[in-house]
Amino acid sequence: MRYDCPKCAHEFSFPDHLNKVSCPMCGECYLVHTYQNVVMLYLDPTPPQRTGKTDDDSERLLFNIRLLTKQIQYLERRVTQDRISGLSSLALAMLFVSFAGFGLLMQRLLFAVLCAIVATAMFGIGILALKSSAKLRSLLHKQVGQRELLRRQMSRQAPKFF
Ligand SMILES: [Zn+2]
Repeated sequence: MRYDCPKCAHEFSFPDHLNKVSCPMCGECYLVHTYQNVVMLYLDPTPPQRTGKTDDDSERLLFNIRLLTKQIQYLERRVTQDRISGLSSLALAMLFVSFAGFGLLMQRLLFAVLCAIVATAMFGIGILALKSSAKLRSLLHKQVGQRELLRRQMSRQAPKFF
């Protein structure tokens, strides 16, 4: 799996099964979440002590909120794309159903059968895309909820810093 470090943009790869990775360039630790081929990295809330500059909690929260916002935007695009491709596949399926009907009327049986096969395939593809869109949408809702949670934590912490 390849991913750009959210902090220093260094591209690095890691095995699929890991749920914790650190960037070889800047040493930042991330928790890995994978869902429907979507890889998400979050800052580890409890990183090992590093030398040099350490971020305070609110900086880490803010960073995770920004990461979530990027993921939410990405998911919104995917949900829309899958929905559009699902709906257009279903429209194509309907078109081929009418071709098949036309073939039957004209007593072109082979043509009708071929159109029916294409219609079935298009229908399957359309349903898969719509299902994927629905699953990603539920992930999107979770991410939005997660971001709200982080924002509330952020505002609880705020008084300490002002
Ligand atoms: Zn890095």
